[in-house]
Amino acid sequence: MLDQLTSAVSPDVRGLLEKALEKRELTAKDAERLLTVHGLDFHALIAAADFASREDCGDDVTYVVCRNINFTNVCYVGCSFCGFARHKDDAAEAFDRTHAEILAKCEDAVRRGATEVCIQGGIHPNKDHTHYRDILRAVKSAYPDLHIHAYSPEEIDFGHKKSGMKLSEYLQWLVDAGLGTMPGTAAEILDDEVRDILSPKKLKTARWIEIIKAAHQIGLRSTSTLMYGHIEKPHHIAAHLDILREIQKETGGFTEFVPLGFIHERNLLYNLLGSRPGPSMEEDLRIIAVSRLFLRPWIKNVQVSWVKMGHKLGQMALSAGANDFGGTLMEESISRESGADFGENTPAEEFRRLIRELGRVPVERTTLYGVVQRFEDPALDPPSREPQKAVELSGPARWRKAIDEASTGRPGSGATALPSAPLSAPL
Ligand code: SF4
Repeated sequence: MLDQLTSAVSPDVRGLLEKALEKRELTAKDAERLLTVHGLDFHALIAAADFASREDCGDDVTYVVCRNINFTNVCYVGCSFCGFARHKDDAAEAFDRTHAEILAKCEDAVRRGATEVCIQGGIHPNKDHTHYRDILRAVKSAYPDLHIHAYSPEEIDFGHKKSGMKLSEYLQWLVDAGLGTMPGTAAEILDDEVRDILSPKKLKTARWIEIIKAAHQIGLRSTSTLMYGHIEKPHHIAAHLDILREIQKETGGFTEFVPLGFIHERNLLYNLLGSRPGPSMEEDLRIIAVSRLFLRPWIKNVQVSWVKMGHKLGQMALSAGANDFGGTLMEESISRESGADFGENTPAEEFRRLIRELGRVPVERTTLYGVVQRFEDPALDPPSREPQKAVELSGPARWRKAIDEASTGRPGSGATALPSAPLSAPL
């Protein structure tokens, strides 16, 4: 019966999956074909990518304990997919964090076990290159052991133009001030026709590549990303993956690839320009799977964005080619302001539970994928470092607690401690 199932996979898809599993490179055309599969072909793609992921990374699933810090939401670039940016005179909603506020967030991050802070902000018209350097210096002098993952290529482009330095000198200047790695965001789709619709004022494809390569060449590593589910077509995604793979062959500087599904609720791209309302579940999983097969062996780590997908789809993606659950984040504004509703914080213990539910082994990692700790035995897990919130009981739990306290005579017990509703209230 199973043979019948596998023999019903389309011959061309079967050929492409075998090619990837034999570790022969897929072409962009191959990736484009795999990005359109449905039905049995889809299931075969997912199974092949899961197999490849376990071959490349084993059963471990990694995560990093980190905190996001957005230092300003003032930005005039005007990306149509952004719900985060504000005008600087928007008294109610614009913010521009002081060093003291940024350091307070770092303090909170360290207390909760973070090894990394991810610092990004809007392109504030009144700032210059020194602003970026000064944030790094302030954080590094207070928390020398904290890894600073900061500044997208768009921010680097802005700061570099203000600095008057050569690009490599500017990047080194930031590294000397404490920059550890860079987010490879602002990539969206590396195709200028698409970029001109998404964000006409943002840096172009060639400049994104120039900045990333210059960073890698001085030893400053970065992530790589893609934003999908809006106006792009499968050939754009395939070409984007091809650009990333070529950069990696040349520099080896990418730590991971992170596909980011478009969040559509609160931005112009969907509401005014009529894009698709984000990816379907199939699309989310197809992109994870195709990334694994297309990027191997050049980019080993494929990350799930739980902020975009949620925990359950994130778990599925970890069985479809991904091997990393991303970061705890602790605070997240960019996706939330566009309408994402999967929360801002996934505590480390929650990652470990979600990973174990898949029969996999949770591993806390550093930004550069060094192992902090492998959590093989749940009995040896450390206590939570999250601030403990008082639990408000309601409904049946509240009644059971009150009855229990009344019958045992422990503090809070007795008739006066009972809720004032009748005991015949439905439990
Ligand atoms: S995505 Fe970034 S660069 Fe674009 S408008 Fe929003 S904050 Fe500015």
